[in-house]
Amino acid sequence: MYYPLLTIDLDKIYSNTVKIKNKCLKHNIDITAITKCTGGNIGVAETLAQAGVKALGDSRLINLELFKSINIPKWLIRIPMMSEAERTVMHCDVSLNSEIKVLQELNYQAKKLRKKHGILLMIDIGDLREGWYDLDEFYKSLNEIKKLDHLDVLGIGTNTNCAGALIPEPDSFSNFPKIIEVLREKFNKEKLIVSGGNSGSYYMIENGTIPNFINNLRLGEMLLFGKESSFQKKYDYLYHDAFKLQAEIIEIKTKPSKPKGLIGKDAFCEDPIFEDKGLRKRALIGVGRQDVSPENIVCEDKDIQIITSSSDHLITDITDSKIDYQVGDIVNFDCNYVSTLNMNTSNYVFKTTKKDVGR
Ligand SMILES: *Cc1c(COP(=O)(O)O)cnc(C)c1O
Repeated sequence: MYYPLLTIDLDKIYSNTVKIKNKCLKHNIDITAITKCTGGNIGVAETLAQAGVKALGDSRLINLELFKSINIPKWLIRIPMMSEAERTVMHCDVSLNSEIKVLQELNYQAKKLRKKHGILLMIDIGDLREGWYDLDEFYKSLNEIKKLDHLDVLGIGTNTNCAGALIPEPDSFSNFPKIIEVLREKFNKEKLIVSGGNSGSYYMIENGTIPNFINNLRLGEMLLFGKESSFQKKYDYLYHDAFKLQAEIIEIKTKPSKPKGLIGKDAFCEDPIFEDKGLRKRALIGVGRQDVSPENIVCEDKDIQIITSSSDHLITDITDSKIDYQVGDIVNFDCNYVSTLNMNTSNYVFKTTKKDVGR
C-alpha cells in the first residue's frame, strides 16, 4: 500500500443512499446524487446509481465525462460556462441555468449536435449564489427561452446553504406555486421537475414539512456522510464514516513543545502560538496541506493531538497515547465533507474503494 491513502467504503454509501431514497419516496421526491465531493470516482458514482437514484449531478464536466458508461441521466449543476456549452450538450442530459446568453449558446450547440438538451431554471430564494432573484425579470426571460427550440425546459431548481448560508424553510418556497403554474402553461407541460435544494433541505423530509410541490432534491453530503447541512444533524440510521484517511509516521522524536530563539512567520506566513508543555513525544506524519486541511480531519486515536501542519507534514503530539507508535506505523483519521473534497482533488492522495457486499 502507498500512503496517504483514502479508503472509500461503498457499502456504507449504498446503505445510506437506499435508506434516504426510501424516505424521499414517501414524499414523491426523486434524488439526483451529487458527486462533486469525490473527484469523478467511478466506483462511488456506480454505487449511487445501483442504489436507485434518478440522476447523477456534478459541478465539473470533466467528472461527468468519466461517468459515460453509467446509464443514468447526468446533470451539470454549476451554470455552464459559454466555453463549455458544446461539451455540456454532448455529455449531459440536463444543466442548471440562469442566463439567457448561455441558454442561447446551449440551444445553438444542441441544434448542431441534433439533440435536445434539458434545462432547469434556477430561482434564487435568498442564498444569493446562482439564479433569478427578480421574478419579473424571470417571467420576462421566459419569452426568450421559449424561442429556443432545441432546449427542453424540464422545470425549476433552487440552491441554499451555500454562499449566504440560507436555511430553507417551507415558507422560503412561497413563490413556487405561481412559478410552476406559469411554466406549465407557457411550456405546455403536465409535470415539471421542482428541485428543492441540497442536503440542507433534507430536514424537511424528516419532520414532514417539505412543500408537496417539491419532487426532487440534489443530495451530496446526506448520501456520503449521513449529515444534513441546515442544522448539522447526523442521522443515527445512516453511516458517517464512509471515508477514512490513513497516513504513515516518518519520524518520532522528543522535542520541546515551544520553539526557542527568534520566531518569525511559519510556512504559511502566519504567527503560530504554542503552549509550553515541556518536552513532548512528537510524531511527524507524511501528509500535509497539499493533501488535506488538518482542521478537517480527526485522529481515530483520541489521545493523539494535531499540533500543526505544513505542505507535506502533519505534526502530532503522541505523548498521551496508549499505543507505542513506531516509525512506519499507520495512523487512521476520520474525515468530513471538506477534507474528503480536498483529498479527492489532490493527486498526491492514493484512493481505494472497498466493497464486501455483492450487488
Ligand atoms: C453542491 C451542490 C449540491 C449538493 O450539495 P450537498 O450539500 O452536498 O447536498 C446541490 N446542488 C448544487 C447546485 C450544488 O452546487
